[in-house]
Amino acid sequence: MIKQALISVSDKTGVLDFARALSGMGVHILSTGGTAKLLAENGIQVTEVADYTGFPEMLDGRVKTLHPKVHGGILARRDFPEHVAALQQHGIPTIDMVVVNLYPFQQTIAREHCSLEDAIENIDIGGPAMLRSSAKNHKDVTVICDPTDYAQVLAEMKAHNGEVTFETKFALAKKVFAHTAQYDGAITNYFTSLGSDKQHATRSSYPATLNLHFDKVQEMRYGENPHQSAAFYRETNPQAGALANYTQLQGKELSYNNIADADAAWECVKTFDEAACVIIKHANPCGVAIGMTPLEAYSKALQTDPTSAFGGIIAFNRELDGNAAEAVAKQFVEVLIAPSFSEQAKKVFSGKQNVRLLEIPLGDAVNRYDLKRVGGGLLVQSPDAKNVALAELKVVTKKQPTPQQLQELMFAWRVAKFVKSNAIVFCKDGMTMGVGAGQMSRIDSARIASIKAMNAGLSLVGTAVASDAFFPFRDGLDVVVEAGATAVIHPGGSMRDQEVVDAADEHGIVMVLTGTRHFRH
Ligand code: 5GP
Repeated sequence: MIKQALISVSDKTGVLDFARALSGMGVHILSTGGTAKLLAENGIQVTEVADYTGFPEMLDGRVKTLHPKVHGGILARRDFPEHVAALQQHGIPTIDMVVVNLYPFQQTIAREHCSLEDAIENIDIGGPAMLRSSAKNHKDVTVICDPTDYAQVLAEMKAHNGEVTFETKFALAKKVFAHTAQYDGAITNYFTSLGSDKQHATRSSYPATLNLHFDKVQEMRYGENPHQSAAFYRETNPQAGALANYTQLQGKELSYNNIADADAAWECVKTFDEAACVIIKHANPCGVAIGMTPLEAYSKALQTDPTSAFGGIIAFNRELDGNAAEAVAKQFVEVLIAPSFSEQAKKVFSGKQNVRLLEIPLGDAVNRYDLKRVGGGLLVQSPDAKNVALAELKVVTKKQPTPQQLQELMFAWRVAKFVKSNAIVFCKDGMTMGVGAGQMSRIDSARIASIKAMNAGLSLVGTAVASDAFFPFRDGLDVVVEAGATAVIHPGGSMRDQEVVDAADEHGIVMVLTGTRHFRH
């Protein structure tokens, strides 16, 4: 039975109600300065830890609870006679519940111009010590580091005569160890990101030791292939608009490849302001289109490559309405993603329970780190968040683009960013007409794109084409012009740029440069 609880929280959300309820159940409450003051002001009976130990809080709060009467009361094993005797000998009562959340270190260092001194003063010392003591002795101590757990613990105590079940205590301890590890990880990242100068003026985005924290969402039946095992982990607070914020409305469990492809689809569809649809197969777009409605966008996207779209992952950046749902339901689709699904759309898929429906709130924040595992290491970079603006484009040919052509080029360029290199993307009328992806030679990507267009019965005459990186020679350009392109967008920057521009003039087409490339591997 819980007789005595120690409450010491920086984030005081919900603590009053919780403490009042504990007190009502006859639990004696110990508390540190600020927390004790708040509880007392609100009429809750509380003993200050300083009065309890006979030692004042000292050194600006650096030492508050670091005392044998606190840690002995937490750590003693109740089933060890020697431990019980030691407590008795020193007059130490047990502490059966510890409620602690830590100084806001992460929030402090996130502030602009946070000084080293500020950061240091926000490193909690006694809090993690109490959390770890309690989590170590979870068999006898209930430990809470997250205010969202208050309600469940109270409910259990009410149902179990003031006790908390072992299962809950164990689960809370796991949470605490993850929490203190994350807290220490943040401190490590911060400290090892600092330069060695006295003022610590320079702070790198890339700490000397990288501590990242992810929580398991699910284990899959297998990974990329059936002989591989796999799991999906999520950041503690994924950024707004990220795939990891998904809610699955229906369908089979997501597989490893589902999640990887869903991410590719969602990241691509999110970049469009217009209603858009993206169909992904094996991490590459096999159809992308914009339209007045989701239905129009889908119908156009599907035309690009209906064969490959079979069993694809389809994403929309608008609510999926009934009309679009009816159309999509005619094809075999693995995963369908949208910011929301209308009631009618849900009804259409209620008869197709195998289809996984993912609802993801829109948002355009990006991951802080882009990670790629290599043998025994990790490559880390900032994500490719560049979206070229119309004003940044440079026309290099004699022929100037029409406003319509500029629109088409911008569309093609947006799509090319999401196609594995080497990427060649033909577009017209706000839809992809041929996509060449993942080839070791740019010419091969161009040839494949035109073959695919031919197979889909699409004409490339008068198309705009994007190349994710520059044309090293004129031969690649010759191939896309031969296929029918009349406007080309690429980064430029090759040693032979002039040869390529001359070739464009010779063909009498439009060429614009972006100045940035979008390799994607
Ligand atoms: P209060 O607002 O009650 O004065 O302080 C609560 C905070 O103090 C909690 O975040 C808790 O983790 C932290 N804390 C408790 N004991 C100690 C200690 O001995 N040293 C330090 N540095 N922080 C402590």
